[in-house]
Amino acid sequence: MVHTEVWKQLHEELADKGVTLVAVSKTKPATDIQEMYDLGQRDFGENYVQELVDKETMLPKDIRWHHIGHLQSNKVKYIAPFVHLIHAVDSAKLLAEINKQAEKNARVIDVLLQLHIADEETKFGMDEQEISSLLAEAQTLAHVRICGLMGMATNTDDEQQIREEYRRLVALFQSLAAEQGAPFSICSIGMSGDYRIAVQEGSNMVRIGSLLFGERSYPR
Ligand SMILES: *Cc1c(COP(=O)(O)O)cnc(C)c1O
Repeated sequence: MVHTEVWKQLHEELADKGVTLVAVSKTKPATDIQEMYDLGQRDFGENYVQELVDKETMLPKDIRWHHIGHLQSNKVKYIAPFVHLIHAVDSAKLLAEINKQAEKNARVIDVLLQLHIADEETKFGMDEQEISSLLAEAQTLAHVRICGLMGMATNTDDEQQIREEYRRLVALFQSLAAEQGAPFSICSIGMSGDYRIAVQEGSNMVRIGSLLFGERSYPR
């Protein structure tokens, strides 16, 4: 179910602040995406490659498709022809594969590097050192553009902890942006439960699912 009024308010609130709203439509039917598209939404985020490919074939061609979660190198080829932004690059291997598949498609693919900010061991992402070396390495890759950072906070109700994690990511983002210059300009943090904190701390791209489409019936 699409929460039309929530979308309208959120769209307005974020547009005023210059924050891009990525509507996270994973597990939701194409009809929901079409409904939100008809309201004016163009940026949609998906986690699962097969689902993303299926939806891309069905839906309007001017949708900007974001791949937002962990991405396996061997699946890059399926989304390389059309993906707008890959949010969660967490290894040199993945970045090299994106570069290779982008070249095959005669494209340059925009990506974000995922900084590990959460407590949990299980969350993906790189530390600051790994991000710096990947940025240096990327100089030689002509078919990827590193456009910023992405992060996921610890899954907790402790707002202070979330704020501190996001603050740390924004600080690194700002220092890298000053050093790298354009196109390093995107800071993708904030989900349904914490996007206000993320925006207060300096996010300029939020990834929002359940607030817009309702709870997902299965938690993948
Ligand atoms: C599912 C998902 C989101 C959206 O989560 P909500 O809590 O439903 O807003 C954002 N980012 C990533 C990486 C996700 O996997």
